[in-house]
Amino acid sequence: PTTLKMEANVLVMGADNVGKSALTVRFLTRRFIGEYGDMEFIYSHNLTVDGREILFHIWDVPSSQEQAEEGSSEEKRIQWADCFVLVYSICDRASFNILPLKIQFIKAAKEGQSQEKVPIVIVGNKRDLHHQRVVSSEEGRLLALSLDCGFYEVSAAEAYHGALMVFHGLAERIPDTKLAL
Ligand code: GDP
Ligand code: MG
Repeated sequence: PTTLKMEANVLVMGADNVGKSALTVRFLTRRFIGEYGDMEFIYSHNLTVDGREILFHIWDVPSSQEQAEEGSSEEKRIQWADCFVLVYSICDRASFNILPLKIQFIKAAKEGQSQEKVPIVIVGNKRDLHHQRVVSSEEGRLLALSLDCGFYEVSAAEAYHGALMVFHGLAERIPDTKLAL
């Protein structure tokens, strides 16, 4: 069977310290380093899902930068992106609470332009810290359901599998009609 080649820009979003960089680096290198500094990159990485080879360009924005700028730069990043990974920490209630507004903002910006629904995956990270959990799995799942997003609970610190699932799930949400090379 022939492989369909595609390209997709991914924006990784979420509050400070939730593990956006840890998740990104885990997906790219299969490894967990522990500290990620505040470097900014757009990383490129290939993933083959269901006969489609997708070249992801992943933008992991440093939190310090997000705080320093006004909303217009975030809008530009949202315009750049084709799909979105929204990360919160299961130990950080505030990081969860900001997601509905962010997602509605993304949808308003993207779905105004095309009729297709925008691929979004919500990620509850730091699942290994279960003794510090303040957001239940059920809450995460319900939020994702209500906003028509994918949902995964993962531990970037403990395993590669979760990070792979996240980008796998994202790939499955990208329609064939879009982004064909
Ligand atoms: P970012 O600001 O969202 O990019 O967060 P980082 O990826 O820099 O991670 C913030 C801190 O949380 C770092 O000290 C990481 O080592 C830690 N961290 C990230 N993911 C996990 C995880 O799944 N479990 C645990 N226990 N710590 C994590
Ligand atoms: Mg970071």
